[in-house]
Amino acid sequence: MTADEFNALCVPAACTLLQALAALNESGRGVLLVLHPDGRLRRTLTDGDLRRAALSHVSESTQVGELPEQPPITIGTDGTFAAGMALLDEHQIDHLPVVDASGRPVDVMFRRELSQRIWLSSPHLGEEETAFVEDAFRTNWIAPLGPHVDGFERELAAHVGVGHAAAVSSGTAAIHLALLLLGVKPGDTVFCSSLTFVGSCNPILYCGARPVFIDSDPQTWNMSPAALERALEWAKKEGRLPRCVIPVNLYGQSADMDAILPICDRYGVPVLEDAAESLGARYKGRASGSFGRIGIYSFNGNKIITTSGGGMLVADDPAVVERARKLATQAREPAPHYEHTEVGFNYRMSNVLAGIGRGQLRVLEQRVAQRRQVFETYRTELADQPQLQWMPEPQGYRSTRWLTCFTLPGRDAGLRRDLVLRALERHSIEARPVWKPMHQQPLFRGAPYFAHESGDVSAGLFEAGICLPSGSNLTPDQQARVIEQLRRALALAEDRRAAA
Ligand SMILES: *Cc1c(COP(=O)(O)O)cnc(C)c1O
Repeated sequence: MTADEFNALCVPAACTLLQALAALNESGRGVLLVLHPDGRLRRTLTDGDLRRAALSHVSESTQVGELPEQPPITIGTDGTFAAGMALLDEHQIDHLPVVDASGRPVDVMFRRELSQRIWLSSPHLGEEETAFVEDAFRTNWIAPLGPHVDGFERELAAHVGVGHAAAVSSGTAAIHLALLLLGVKPGDTVFCSSLTFVGSCNPILYCGARPVFIDSDPQTWNMSPAALERALEWAKKEGRLPRCVIPVNLYGQSADMDAILPICDRYGVPVLEDAAESLGARYKGRASGSFGRIGIYSFNGNKIITTSGGGMLVADDPAVVERARKLATQAREPAPHYEHTEVGFNYRMSNVLAGIGRGQLRVLEQRVAQRRQVFETYRTELADQPQLQWMPEPQGYRSTRWLTCFTLPGRDAGLRRDLVLRALERHSIEARPVWKPMHQQPLFRGAPYFAHESGDVSAGLFEAGICLPSGSNLTPDQQARVIEQLRRALALAEDRRAAA
């Protein structure tokens, strides 16, 4: 609903029933907002109210203000989606005006819209997945391991140009295995990007190791080479270099590997590349995830391609991947009986899910193009909002735009970010803040943190950043709805700031 469409719903109490009928007919929204002269909401007027008036022989020329009083049911601008839904259900109504602190309506929640939720990033299946899954059923390979697992590993490794791959149950499991393969032991330290999803660094704790967090570079939003360098210098002085460094490739874009790899090399520290969010992205012509000693991908339901849940570990060294497979299958020794000499895990991917993965991999490049198109549409359609700073894509990077993200400018960006998110949520649009950095998480309180030279970049991105619905299956109509509501939400947030 645009600002003009919203304004067309607002009528004075002096308007006649006939005029109200015409306005209702024109808007097609099924509700009008009757205002006091000072702009406060007096009541709502629905199709049903007018029908009842007609049946009681109230004349068409009667003013709306003369109808029996009916105090409106409303929600405040701080009201959540859930609270709005509860009110709609409790009062069995289909529209809920949103009013500001002075009682003026600023928006309306519509039940019809709420039932057509727009997701941040939902699974998007192609045409071949079911054939692979049916094959798994037909051949009774409903096991962890099987021909689709082998095929998926082979095909993914070829796709990203890495020697070998091991399919596992999640991206987090892949990181856990990778840390073990790199020799991470209790008491060790591991460096990791601070701006990321907790799945990147929970496995550090599984190993009994201690994380050190590295800030973002404003040019990539990913690991700052400058902060990394300072952290390694410090670690060397302390005599405890990290066992490995985990640069994370956020929102479909690679970190600056040409800067990060030589720094790590100089200190002799291997890189574990968390490419959970960047499958399909390229950096200077090479596939994201192919730069570290070990790389990992995720096929969780919200990622660019999905197996409903799953992950992949990739490395050029066949011995590394062989060992990953062994650790992922309870570290079973090669013997006809069950022989074990070390701790293992049950981390393998099932043959059924690998079948979904093979089908998804075939449409990966299409998905990248679709997500990039979603981003382009946001950027061009919202060109009238020059204050929005889109996540940069420097020269030589090719992001998948897994999620379209932007930041709001200004000192109170956090406040406006929340207002915008809440306004979108009231229209059943799932948008999210940018990841809350790990150095700000209670879980990691006390962990060392190295900020970028220009201050705490990741904290600023979290404060000001918003991720928009970006699925490759977002329809043009849905995206138009997001754009329209975002424009309105931005204006509302601006008004609130002006009023404050
Ligand atoms: C999704 C994600 C993970 C974890 O992957 P799962 O498959 O959900 O375990 C790790 N790191 C990042 C950056 C992610 O986005």
